[in-house]
Amino acid sequence: MDLQLYAMTCGWLTMPMQTIIGDEEGNIKIPIPAYLIRHPKGTVLFDTGMSLKAQQDPAGFLGDASAFIQVHFANDEDIKSRLQQLDIDVADIDMVINSHLHFDHAGGNAFIPDARILVQKNEWDAAHEPDFIESFAYQPEEYDLGQDIVLINGAHDLFGDGSVNLIPTPGHTPGHQSLLIKPKQRQILLAGDACYLRRTLEEMRLPAIVHDADEMLKSLQALKTLEAKGAEIFYGHDPEFWNTVPQAPARIL
Ligand SMILES: [Zn+2]
Repeated sequence: MDLQLYAMTCGWLTMPMQTIIGDEEGNIKIPIPAYLIRHPKGTVLFDTGMSLKAQQDPAGFLGDASAFIQVHFANDEDIKSRLQQLDIDVADIDMVINSHLHFDHAGGNAFIPDARILVQKNEWDAAHEPDFIESFAYQPEEYDLGQDIVLINGAHDLFGDGSVNLIPTPGHTPGHQSLLIKPKQRQILLAGDACYLRRTLEEMRLPAIVHDADEMLKSLQALKTLEAKGAEIFYGHDPEFWNTVPQAPARIL
């Protein structure tokens, strides 16, 4: 079996533009991507979208942030439903790689109870610190669920064959990571929140809210270097780019 890659949309959020690109006005409606990777040695998700609580009680879930964030998340858009639409049971998922532990990336982890969760150690540590979990974006009951947690330190070749690689891209959060997928002919970089939009990379412009601006710029520079070497960047929340991405059951790879 060749490596397979599928994109799924697990809802949308309407956010103030400045949370995506600083100093811009208005709102933007952004997709919440999750990806399925099938490799001869395992079936993997990269991010899991949002939780049932975010779907059923967004105001309660977001608290004060519900004044500026709108959740669009239909019944058939959670990660379990998306997998069912592909005739995949959650028990078939061996591993979940979380780019980071924000609610729109790890919120669906509860749907995949038996998977091993791969997250950078410094992300896991930050996501349990009081300073972080007082923000709505980190809610430990969404990700600290008793699953088997595999803490990663830095770059990691998932299957030992160079085809699926965890790449640290800190800045958005302390332990953010992206995924570099290298089948025979192509290189695809799933950026996650290291790079929200195509414009983020082209214009090197950061959001108004960022954990560490210097680190984020370094990570963006690393993505630019990968792009110059032929990697296709899959931006984390770019609605225009997302329109061009084949959705499962169509394959990207
Ligand atoms: Zn995030």
